[in-house]
Amino acid sequence: MNQVTNQFRSSLADRVVIALREVLGEGTCALHSPLFQGNEQSYLRECIASTFVSSVGPYVDKFEKQLAEYTGAKRVVAVVNGTAALQVALRLADVKHGDEVIVPAFTFVATANAVSYLGASPHFVDSSELTLGIDPYELRNWLNHSTERTSSGVRNRKTGCRVRALLPMHTFGHPCDLDALAAIAHDFQLTLVEDASESLGSYLNGRHTGTVGTLGALSFNGNKIVTTGGGGAIITNDDGLADYAKHLTTTAKLPHAWAYDHDEVGYNFRMPNLNAALGCAQLEQLPTFLASKRRLTDAYQKAFSTMKGVELKLEAPNCRSNYWLQTLILEESEAYQRDVIIETTNNLGLMTRPAWTLLPKLKPYSTCPCAPIPMAESLTRRIINVPSGAGLA
Ligand SMILES: *Cc1c(COP(=O)(O)O)cnc(C)c1O
Repeated sequence: MNQVTNQFRSSLADRVVIALREVLGEGTCALHSPLFQGNEQSYLRECIASTFVSSVGPYVDKFEKQLAEYTGAKRVVAVVNGTAALQVALRLADVKHGDEVIVPAFTFVATANAVSYLGASPHFVDSSELTLGIDPYELRNWLNHSTERTSSGVRNRKTGCRVRALLPMHTFGHPCDLDALAAIAHDFQLTLVEDASESLGSYLNGRHTGTVGTLGALSFNGNKIVTTGGGGAIITNDDGLADYAKHLTTTAKLPHAWAYDHDEVGYNFRMPNLNAALGCAQLEQLPTFLASKRRLTDAYQKAFSTMKGVELKLEAPNCRSNYWLQTLILEESEAYQRDVIIETTNNLGLMTRPAWTLLPKLKPYSTCPCAPIPMAESLTRRIINVPSGAGLA
């Protein structure tokens, strides 16, 4: 009786701590620490000894080739970070000054920033609870309602701006509904560009995320599943776009033995050889990282399966998630406890984080076009990311 009463009285925060401890043991735990247990040191030493530490070198070519093999993309262009990869991918998708790009309200700020760097505006839309990515059903309704077809493309009725591209993101590694989104992109003449920054190793119906759209962007920031310190990549099946991406990110320099001839304003966005060396060593361990993250998911699933009011996010049908960030979703009735849970766990050294502030709520994006986003608003109130590193399982 006494035990039952205590259990009844223990707060949700206490129960979350007990479940996390059951999986993670004692001590402190970061949200996502990188793991360097392969050839990192030897490749980096070799890279330094060769003197080729900067923007040319064999590791860049090797990293691009290995990423192409892994993802099944025909071509890969490695760049300095994921945001730069998005910026160049959108430019290649013909996004121009004054255009709008469909972006989920529920994503990291970099997705929208890349749009802004081109002088275009993000146009925010809602997400689905099943995938945590853009909800295709709501998107189609919204586009039918808010846009019109003109001789110069699909335009936002209210702003008059051309809506040029659709930029979904695979949240925390969970693939969004790409088949439905590709159909919408086709019907509304939008170029599909995927923000696959969080989803290296994630598949939908056997196709790697980032390879369904015309272009995709990957990130190798320090907190991602594979890190190059900082880095990113543009992936595509189109040789012409890949060649142009390489050219633009290499200061638009025309190939020549010694002459400095640049045929447009390019960018210095190439990934240095030093970072690519780290990336090659990391990529060799990706299958191990993925297996380890899956074991961690199983362990969390066991620990949280009987807990009322909170659920571990699992992959949707036909999806294979990389489980980059493990995600608890509170029931709406428990959402008010989110901050107490986050505070309690962090005070105990168990690093947890809320989801992002919705982008239309941020000062720089508060006046951008925005569809009704009730699910994004609900998700952001209810989500807690918990320790997820590949070294934990
Ligand atoms: C990490 C990330 C990026 C790119 O980040 P960089 O730090 O520039 O590599 C873009 N979009 C999302 C959703 C991300 O999580």
